[in-house]
Amino acid sequence: MIIASICIHKDEEPPISGPDGICNIFFGGCNLHCIYCQNHEISRPEHGHRFRDISIKETIDQIEYTLSTGIKAVGFVSPSHVVPQVKAIIRGLNGRGLKPITVYNTNSYDKQEVIDSLEGLINVYLPDSLFLEAVLVLLSLLLLLAFELTLVADCLDVVLAVSALLTGSDLDTVAGDLRAVAIL
Ligand code: SF4
Repeated sequence: MIIASICIHKDEEPPISGPDGICNIFFGGCNLHCIYCQNHEISRPEHGHRFRDISIKETIDQIEYTLSTGIKAVGFVSPSHVVPQVKAIIRGLNGRGLKPITVYNTNSYDKQEVIDSLEGLINVYLPDSLFLEAVLVLLSLLLLLAFELTLVADCLDVVLAVSALLTGSDLDTVAGDLRAVAIL
């Protein structure tokens, strides 16, 4: 199994990681290859990060050691392409009597049946979709560009107010013929 890192991760999602941090397993590779990936050294093996190819047992050993220091949660980061391994790790931990809070930290490009199959194994789902964020940023930029092109600062306020007025339910309706031409 290709692992980039097993480490204590602090300060991210504090309600989950708490003051002591979370034991995160950063898997090598990713089921998406976004060109803007901020973790490209990890998500793309060809970018040269030194991965470790370690067994499930070794992984469980390292997690067990980390949990023995007082850490309460285990996070699986970019796990979508290694779900069978994630399940084996959790079952292995449970078999040793360890029941940490388990976190599935995903880009959300998962099949419904895969998520369903994690029932009872994962406690917290952490959808973290940079793809969705990129789309929203792009839409925001387009909106800003549209307003810039109008050169009218209060365009949005006026348009929204007039739209609300024009679609108000207290206005009289106008009948139309079959060609949607108004009949006065
Ligand atoms: S989904 Fe996230 S981790 Fe995977 S390539 Fe895209 S940005 Fe990188």
